[in-house]
Amino acid sequence: MNIIFLGPPGSGKGTQAKLLSKNKNFLHISTGDLFREEIEKKTALGLKVKSYIDQGKLVPDDIVLDVIKTRISISNNILFDGFPRTVDQAEGLEKMMEELGRKIDLVFFFEINEKEVIKRIVARRTCPNCGKIYNMITNPPKNDETCDICNVKLYQRDDDKEDVIKKRLEVYKFQTSPLVSYYRLEGIFEIIDASRNVDEIYSEIDKKISQKILY
Ligand code: AMP
Repeated sequence: MNIIFLGPPGSGKGTQAKLLSKNKNFLHISTGDLFREEIEKKTALGLKVKSYIDQGKLVPDDIVLDVIKTRISISNNILFDGFPRTVDQAEGLEKMMEELGRKIDLVFFFEINEKEVIKRIVARRTCPNCGKIYNMITNPPKNDETCDICNVKLYQRDDDKEDVIKKRLEVYKFQTSPLVSYYRLEGIFEIIDASRNVDEIYSEIDKKISQKILY
């Protein structure tokens, strides 16, 4: 089964994807995480994508599709998180899947309003070690800015600062949100009320996946 998590930045896609890939047999592909790892390791790809990410812009489609192409054949159960982000990426993905005799089975759209998303992004902190995502207001660590599991200091993503967030939301509106109508037409589209808490959202997604497997 191949699944896409679609939604604005800060809507909780990464949190749910990490839970789902831990509990079920999914290969989690987060293009954002992949690019951040490449930047951290200072690879050629990392150097290429850094300025786009720092400015809150999208990385060009050909670079993104190349990255996906090398990973897509690893598993038959993929959870795409933050990809595709443009109609061209969606078409590129469809073609690659077709060539492998596979398809996208479900698209979960994380629906949430812009005000809530900004609040969440500003309060987001991540563990540099295990990648666990915290919200300093609704889901803070037990000790001040320290990961509960790894006991290391949490960090705030550079692109989660307020000036870049505005640009990312604008990019979402103009370049990514057209994917809502793109996938809605395909009959594999599920709307998730992403304003609820982590457990409620998880159990709804889990239920929808089980239903899809059964029928
Ligand atoms: P994310 O972690 O998903 O919020 O992504 C962080 C940043 O990485 C985005 O603001 C983009 O600059 C870049 N990025 C991640 N995924 C994609 C994608 N599918 N297409 C283009 N750029 C992407």
